[in-house]
Formats: sequence, C-alpha cells, structure tokens
Amino acid sequence: MKRARHDIITEVRARVPALNLKMNGENLVYLDNAATTQKPSQVLDFLSDALVTRNANVHRSMYELSDFSTMAYENAREKVRSFINAPSRENVIFTSGTTASINLVATCFCQRFVGRGDVILIEGDSHHSNIVPWQITAERAGAEVKVIPTDVMTGAGRSGRVAVEELEGLLSDNVKILAITQISNITGLHNPVGEIISAAHSKGIPVLVDGAQGIVHSPVDVQAMDCDFYAFSAHKIYGATGVGVLYGKKDLLEALPPYMGGGDMVETVTYQKTTYAPLPLKFEAGTPNFIGASSLLPALEFAEYLRNGEVGEAVKEEEGEIIAYMLDRLSAPGIELYGKPYDVGEKIPIFTFNIESINAGDLAQLLDKMGVAVRSGLMCAEPLLNSFGAVSALRASFAPYNTLEEAKTFIRCLERARMMLS
Ligand code: PLP
Repeated sequence: MKRARHDIITEVRARVPALNLKMNGENLVYLDNAATTQKPSQVLDFLSDALVTRNANVHRSMYELSDFSTMAYENAREKVRSFINAPSRENVIFTSGTTASINLVATCFCQRFVGRGDVILIEGDSHHSNIVPWQITAERAGAEVKVIPTDVMTGAGRSGRVAVEELEGLLSDNVKILAITQISNITGLHNPVGEIISAAHSKGIPVLVDGAQGIVHSPVDVQAMDCDFYAFSAHKIYGATGVGVLYGKKDLLEALPPYMGGGDMVETVTYQKTTYAPLPLKFEAGTPNFIGASSLLPALEFAEYLRNGEVGEAVKEEEGEIIAYMLDRLSAPGIELYGKPYDVGEKIPIFTFNIESINAGDLAQLLDKMGVAVRSGLMCAEPLLNSFGAVSALRASFAPYNTLEEAKTFIRCLERARMMLS
C-alpha cells in the first residue's frame, strides 16, 4: 500500500537529528542548505565509529587496523565512482572540497597547458571558487580570463541565465579551458551543460564542471555529461566537512604535473629525483582526511535513499510544491527574485532575492530570532550579484528533507520581518 507523503517525509526528517534543534526558543527551520547540509544519523554514527574502529593512517601499514581504515577510504572512493559513473577509481581524487578541486586543476592545468596570450573561459554565474583560482593561475601564465556573460550582463533579460548564444563567438583558438557551473548557487538554475561541453569539445577545449550544487539536486553521470573534470564537496551532500572530490578523465589527469608533493603520492624518492605514484594517489599528498572521506559512503547512500523509490517520489513531489509556492510568494510587489525559471523543472529550490529598501542582513537577523536560518550577503558570487545591481541579498535554500510547511513558515516570518523593518 502506498504510504502518505507526509509519513515518508516525517521518516526522512527523523533520520536527521539537527532538524529537531531549537534556535532562539523556536523550532529550527534550516534553509541554508546550499552552504552546507545537515547530517543524517547514518553519517554521524559512521564518523564516530570510524574514529574508534578504523582510526589508522591509510595505505601505509601492515597491521589490521590500518587495513580497516584503507578499506573504508577505498570503499568510499568506489561509492563515489559508481555515484557519478566514473569509469574507474583512478578517475576519483579526494580533495578538501570543491574549492580545492578547482584550485588543483587551475594550478596544474595552467602550469602544463596555458601560456602567454592564452584564454581561460569562465561563466558569469560562477561562485568565487570558479573565478579566483583561474585569475591567480592566469596571471602567473600571462593568460587572460574571459567570461561567458549572463542575460543580465548582455542586457537581454534579468534571469541570470548564461547567454549560451555568446559562446560560439568566445571559443577562439587560444581558449585553453572552459570552467562552468552545473547549477548556480544564486539563481538555482540548471545550465545547459551538455550543450556547452559539446560546443567546447568541437574546438578541442576541455571543460571543468563545478558540481557543488549540481551533485545534490540532479543525478550525475560524468561519462554521459562528457565533462573533463567535475568537482564537488562532501559537506553539501550530507558528508563530512573538509572533503571533496575531483573527477578527471584519465589521460588529462596523467598529463598534469602533481599538485602538492609529500607522502603517499610517490613511487620512489631520491635526493635528486622523485617518481610519482599512479592515479589517483599522485594527487593525494600527505595524510588525507581519511575519516571524513570514508563518510562519503553513508552520505551518498543517504542521497540515493532520498532519490529512489517511494521516498524519491515523495521528496520530488514536496520539492515541486515548495518551488511553485516560493516562486508565487516571491513574485509579490517590491521583491526581486534572481533566477526566475521558465518552468519549475529548470530550478532547484534556491531562492535569492531582495526586498525593496530593506537590508538583507537585517532581514536575516530578524528571521534568526524566529528560528529561521537563511544566508545573507554576497554568497561568494559578488560579480553575479553586482550584475543584478545588488550589493547583498537574502538566500533561502532547501534540501530534500525540508517541507512545504517550512516554506510557509519562512514566508510568514519574512512578511513579519518585512513589516518590522518597513
Ligand atoms: N561552487 C558552488 C556553486 C558553490 O555553491 C560552492 C559553495 O557554496 C562552492 C563552489 C565552494 O564549495 P566549498 O566551499 O565546499 O569548496
């Protein structure tokens, strides 16, 4: 018998202890999931158990405890491999987060393939972590960073959608790499990643995809997507902080020089010369965050539980209603929502907006007093927000464990806060 959606969502929420917290005497309504997600018990239990039963350095020792630790670390790598459908474990490198993954590629790729007069192409809706590493490495190489604009930047619209029609004109012979975003952390809009990648590949240009938000809200198949690099963070998909993933095509990863030098990334070392370990360890110098990384196994299992079967169906229905409700309420006079979709399916439940003549930070503080946790400020996307004419904004971002009821509480509290500040 089909279970009621309410019962299923209640079961989901019971698995995430932080959702029962009280803040300022109110039930916590946590709507800052684009920044980081709350952790399910299966991840919390796994982490505390690992600190006792699998706490030994990985890949180094001959004793059993160390084998347990190495096994947990490599099992998590296999889980990531299957979750993103990478061809092999050699394509999956553990880093400390999306930012670290992009810095790795920017540094190593530019060192090997980018020189004076070359161009690195990025997107107008990028997070700072997909802008600044390229600026740093372009400066070192004497290259230039160019931007695929959004419709706001070309003057064609106000959605923040990437102006894909501009791409053809930007893909000149000296473009060496294209760094794009699967889903913007401001607009919540899906970018046409497949179309962009085929256009770049038709000119022989590799593409890095920032999947920090994309991995959480859509199934990812890196082989079908045909991206050359894909980056994401564990903490945004129910895993530990300080852990990330870099997927790369094998030939490209092999062609790159190492990023950091140290233990575990070497084959043989003499005072004169070092030979490097094969992939993926070539890019994992030093003791990794092996406990955190191993928690990607239960974290991705939780993500699959939220996506599949009756739970997946219930979560999808709830999310559709949340998006429709929020879009309706945030189209009220005096509110500018950044990232209006053509239809509900184009958007994940990220809502970034401003209310006329009210400071977003003041709103966030009042909402906090009502138990509602939302982000305010620039959300690490200053150029995009500035292009909208905004110097800060308020962002409510939902996870699959959030409810329509919480969306209603948010809007009720927002209206109260707006009245208080008007
Ligand atoms: N890219 C996007 C689209 C993001 O939303 C974020 C974080 O908010 C990042 C990159 C950076 O992720 P991290 O801080 O986990 O490295």
